[in-house]
Amino acid sequence: MAKKNQSVQAIRGMHDILPEQSPRWQYAENIIREVLSSYCYQEIRLPTVEKTELFKRSIGEVTDIVEKEMYTFNDRNNDSLTLRPEGTAGCLRACLEHGLLHNQVHRLWYCGPMFRYERPQKGRYRQFHQLGVETYGMPGPDIDAELIVLTDRLWKRFGIRERLTLELNTLGTTQERLVYREKLVAYFKQHIAALDEDSLRRLETNPLRILDSKNKDMHSLISDAPELMDSLGEDSLQHFQTLTRTLDQLGVSYEINTRLVRGLDYYGKTVFEWVTNDLGAQGTVCAGGRYDGLIEQLGGKANHAIGFAMGMERLLLLLEQLDSLPIARTVDVYMIRVGTAAEEEGLRLAEKIRNEVQGIKLQVNCAGGSFKSQFKKADKSGAEYAIILAEDELSRGEVSIKPLRTNKEQMNISINEAIHFFIESL
Ligand code: ATP
Ligand code: MG
Repeated sequence: MAKKNQSVQAIRGMHDILPEQSPRWQYAENIIREVLSSYCYQEIRLPTVEKTELFKRSIGEVTDIVEKEMYTFNDRNNDSLTLRPEGTAGCLRACLEHGLLHNQVHRLWYCGPMFRYERPQKGRYRQFHQLGVETYGMPGPDIDAELIVLTDRLWKRFGIRERLTLELNTLGTTQERLVYREKLVAYFKQHIAALDEDSLRRLETNPLRILDSKNKDMHSLISDAPELMDSLGEDSLQHFQTLTRTLDQLGVSYEINTRLVRGLDYYGKTVFEWVTNDLGAQGTVCAGGRYDGLIEQLGGKANHAIGFAMGMERLLLLLEQLDSLPIARTVDVYMIRVGTAAEEEGLRLAEKIRNEVQGIKLQVNCAGGSFKSQFKKADKSGAEYAIILAEDELSRGEVSIKPLRTNKEQMNISINEAIHFFIESL
């Protein structure tokens, strides 16, 4: 039994992002926003909880997510709700609900927490964050190429392009997959003794997923299996060839991986993953594909859709491996106040400085303390300057500025000169 005074802890696999970590998140999010807006993608904000039925209908009953990873509960009205395990279904639900898909094209993005009941390990959590990008109304392959080149630009901006490989495949149409499925089932049935338990189950429910198996003992069997590419019709082949040609023209290198099927049911034609060797087993940083069929499946009219999702934690883990990140200072100036009069005057003066020095990050020492202890805090804050308010100087309208990162002399100057100095030098 838990001790009475033991403090409550966070849920396993759900992490706090502490103040010392958030600048890295903000850095990543700012670059993502910048890149997305340079391609004119718009943000959509969606609920974290949806009806369970939405995920069952879209992700598919026999996928890992729906079979064993969802946080599902009944609310007080006995409706079955689920913490979203991904964003594609909710985004499409919202667009259908608000009539956004009628004769329109959309390029959308969202970023936020997703929930999956998985075994927590590095790069795999129960609450994690995804950047999701979804586009509607465009049959491609030009938009397919745009999405991929956009992600390629993101990696370049982050300085991690050479650590990622683009894997590309096509899944053809539902009809083509049905034909292929027969061939695949016939092949695996010939080798049924070599199938592991998961694959035996998938043989009945979702045989393409066998190709996705992470069991190394299955790999040679899988690599000899028939290839979907050989069951594709003219239209699907041409879509894929135009996409690869466009990527060649754009200078985006890729590897064709005919075993890439993606875990979810709703994909067709283009699928892709950006993978790295630098994160151990959790090597997929970003994954996406075309899911035209999902729109009708959720009750909309036939339409086109392609998107991707990027795991923010995995991106952050990659960024942490870099030597340094160009992260902005969190404090520019630290205000030290000594004596009652200085304490009273300080907050007012701080407001004046913030009014006049645009964008300044000014931290006021608030918990009191001797000059020495305040000075230590100023240094620790990482500030470029300390501004020192002492009683007798302040009575003459003067303050001191002490540069904290250089050997330059301390200056005793008027308040207006101090403001001018910050405008010039920050
Ligand atoms: P994996 O094969 O690693 O389980 P997935 O196919 O389940 O990935 P998607 O549903 O395609 O993943 O999600 C897109 C991205 O979200 C992944 O490529 C990954 O970067 C990230 N992601 C998925 N699940 C988790 C998780 N539990 N913790 C952290 N990131 C995750
Ligand atoms: Mg998974």
